[in-house]
Amino acid sequence: MASWKDNVRRVEPYVPGEQPKVQNIIKLNTNENPYPPAPGVEAALKAFASQDIDLLRKYPDPSASALIDTIAEYYGMDSDQVFVGVGSDDVLAMAFLTFFNSEKPILFPNISYSFYPVWAELYRIPYEKQPLTDDFKINPEDYYKDNGGVIFPNPNAPTALYMKLDAVEDIIRHNQDVVVIVDEAYIDFGGTSARDLVNKYENVLVVQTFSKSRSMAGMRIGYAFGSKALIKALNDVKFSFNSYTMNATSLVAGVEAVKDKEYFEEHCKMIVATRERAKERLTELGFTFPDSKANFIFAKQEKVPASVLFEELKKRNIFVRYFKQPVIDQYLRITIGTDDEMEQLFVALKEIIDGYSI
Ligand SMILES: *Cc1c(COP(=O)(O)O)cnc(C)c1O
Repeated sequence: MASWKDNVRRVEPYVPGEQPKVQNIIKLNTNENPYPPAPGVEAALKAFASQDIDLLRKYPDPSASALIDTIAEYYGMDSDQVFVGVGSDDVLAMAFLTFFNSEKPILFPNISYSFYPVWAELYRIPYEKQPLTDDFKINPEDYYKDNGGVIFPNPNAPTALYMKLDAVEDIIRHNQDVVVIVDEAYIDFGGTSARDLVNKYENVLVVQTFSKSRSMAGMRIGYAFGSKALIKALNDVKFSFNSYTMNATSLVAGVEAVKDKEYFEEHCKMIVATRERAKERLTELGFTFPDSKANFIFAKQEKVPASVLFEELKKRNIFVRYFKQPVIDQYLRITIGTDDEMEQLFVALKEIIDGYSI
């Protein structure tokens, strides 16, 4: 028997949502933004192609300073309080590697971003999942116990529930001997960021992304705020792993996306407005859901099983996300699309629900 097989690192990989190859679908399954990135992004990429293509010959700036400085200025932080990576998945993976090196288990919610247990397994970090309440809330007291670190999304995914800043701070206050990571992938859709807490607590890392609120999932840009000490530790690990994480075009496009505050804020507002209308329509269609502060709604229909809705929508070329796992297998996670896409979703849902008999 080939003994090299004994030495292979075996992991159960994260399964991302489907990216169907077919055209003309309504794609509400991976929480992408339905609107294009800020116009400056397109202009900058065109200018790059026509004037700066020679930059592709060279290595990009390993410190990503143009992007870091722009993010720092936008959010009123110092540049040495900001870290960037290839999507927040890269930032989070690097943070797990950097900060979670205790023998004690790290803590995160049992219903949450399913990448957390995957990274913990990959890096052999012990972990303990903390149950949500029956109405899907994170109970801060579950995080008071001795642990090797804490991570949770706010708003949580896939529930979309937002936890108020004082509850976030309560968890941080009880965990000042470990690193606490707040994953704010969806914070721009109505929550208050924990960003300012990084000036108050040296052990807090706040992670955000360009993938959802800045319409740039394909560009792969994520970032984190933390104390200088945390950011230095992250950079030391990053430069021990891969110096050139941010490619030349991401750096240019990222800067342009951040510069256009008005476009960003306006489009976040549009998604929030569509989401609030969607809550009304879904209620009329017999759905219940935790109150979303994200760009998706986690909803359950009173009569039709989620698996049936999922398959029937798919037949109509409408993709939503369905998790075939205990506790949440009656729910669909529906990304907020344009008003037009949502209207087509509601029409399809009505047809499926009206036609359903057991
Ligand atoms: C989407 C998402 C991310 C990662 O997004 P990137 O595209 O890698 O920036 C991280 N955490 C949560 C909770 C998410 O939903």
